[in-house]
Amino acid sequence: MPNSDFNESNPAPSVDNTQKKPRFYQYVLIPLGTVFLIAAAAGGIYYYNNYSSLSLSCAAWQEKYNSSEEQLAALSSENETLKATLASIPDFVIDEWTDVSPEIPFTVDLSDWKYILVNETNPLSEDFEVEVVKTKNGQYVDKRIKEDLENMIEAAKEDDVTLLLCSSYRNYAKQDRLMDESIRDYTRKGYTYQEAFFETKRTIALTGASEHHTGLALDIVDPSYQSLDDAQAKTDASLWLAENAADYGFILRYPKDKVDLTGIDYESWHYRYVGKDAALFMKEHNLCLEEFIELAQKQDILSQKQEASQKQNYEE
Ligand SMILES: [Zn+2]
Repeated sequence: MPNSDFNESNPAPSVDNTQKKPRFYQYVLIPLGTVFLIAAAAGGIYYYNNYSSLSLSCAAWQEKYNSSEEQLAALSSENETLKATLASIPDFVIDEWTDVSPEIPFTVDLSDWKYILVNETNPLSEDFEVEVVKTKNGQYVDKRIKEDLENMIEAAKEDDVTLLLCSSYRNYAKQDRLMDESIRDYTRKGYTYQEAFFETKRTIALTGASEHHTGLALDIVDPSYQSLDDAQAKTDASLWLAENAADYGFILRYPKDKVDLTGIDYESWHYRYVGKDAALFMKEHNLCLEEFIELAQKQDILSQKQEASQKQNYEE
């Protein structure tokens, strides 16, 4: 019989089976588990840092892509609508236009920055942006007109006339402030708010409807008389501008005989850049910008119609 040598006073050494398992946990499972947890945490952090931003930007791109697809679809449907409108303009209306004259002797791309039309019915958006530069007089203008403007000032100087720029680029906020100040002045004088608003609107364009926001408009006065009123028109600066500004691409934007069309009172000091071709043409034919643009639009539609009918004749 095994263990027969052992008895109560000499017991057999006990074999403790429970001691083996903790050792296995202690030396194998716990370290392995710890390593695994650390690796998992590190992996998580690495993934978060690298891939979560990646998937975020992917989502942003997807969104951009979707919105540009939508814009494209909107544009092409707009295009279809325009084509349909063009096709639907009855010929008798166009016939009335056949005497659309004078004919503009150069190509007018109405989306060109020089022809931007800003008035009460065509306001600029609040986020309209333009790159402006400082002129020698310390005024800010669209950088594309700086050279012509400075040449004009120089040419006037050679004729002993000083052109003083008193106002040029105005952003949305400044335009807003000007309107507010004017309305306040009128209400102090006893006008009701409504009266003050309409009185202001006669000389200051509504916020968003001001050309000064484009960087293409300038108020130019004579240093000897700087008030913006009717008498300004008789100064040397005003007389010189009326005669010569078109040669440098500038037009008198609010002429006396066009108030109905421009919606703004006569301003002998407010000049607007439209480029030399358009300025000379408008001066020669006594057109304001609203008239010039309408003329260009009509002539464009006419020539498209003509082209279409020529094509039809050719196909027949
Ligand atoms: Zn002005």
